[in-house]
Amino acid sequence: MIRLGIFAGIHGDEPEGTLALGRLLRLLEQDSQIARGYALFLYPLCNPTGLAAGTRESQTGKDLNREFWRNSAEPEVRFLESEIYSHAFDGIITLHSDDTSDGLYGFVNGAVLSENLLAPALRAGEKYLPRDRRHIIDGFPANNGIIYRSYDGVLRSVPGLSRPPFELTLETPQRAPLYLQVEAFVIALRTVLNEYRALISIGQNI
Ligand SMILES: [Zn+2]
Repeated sequence: MIRLGIFAGIHGDEPEGTLALGRLLRLLEQDSQIARGYALFLYPLCNPTGLAAGTRESQTGKDLNREFWRNSAEPEVRFLESEIYSHAFDGIITLHSDDTSDGLYGFVNGAVLSENLLAPALRAGEKYLPRDRRHIIDGFPANNGIIYRSYDGVLRSVPGLSRPPFELTLETPQRAPLYLQVEAFVIALRTVLNEYRALISIGQNI
């Protein structure tokens, strides 16, 4: 089984990803084949106090997405680090929404093939929303909506692994209609599930 962790809502004012994981769960109830070959670990609500208050930060005023693997004392971060460490995921996906962007984009980290998963995911999401094709997004150089760097302290895999998992962050344009963001997230996630399953089975046949 491929172990995949999907995380949403680490920023409390971005409920779009949380809603998308709820929608994905309902689809899985109707058709479990969507996740064939996977053990899915869904974390739809990583910052509960922020969501309740509608703030990016948690109730302690911390941006939790800058606290990972830095000996943080924040309980949400410690819990999630322990999940990430103990499950040894093959892939980690995080969902965000950006109110300064008008299109879909994403970050890649970890395994080299991360880029080969994000590209088709963004392409699939374009059924619902345009892609952000600016050359600079969020202060980082970007190529067709793909960014190869990220902030220190973001939710990601254990640093320094010799065989890191693939790591993707998907970002929707937060000012777009909510249902389109949810649909774009869901089709992008389904695309990653299909693409990675195919990549793994090709690898096993060689
Ligand atoms: Zn965010």
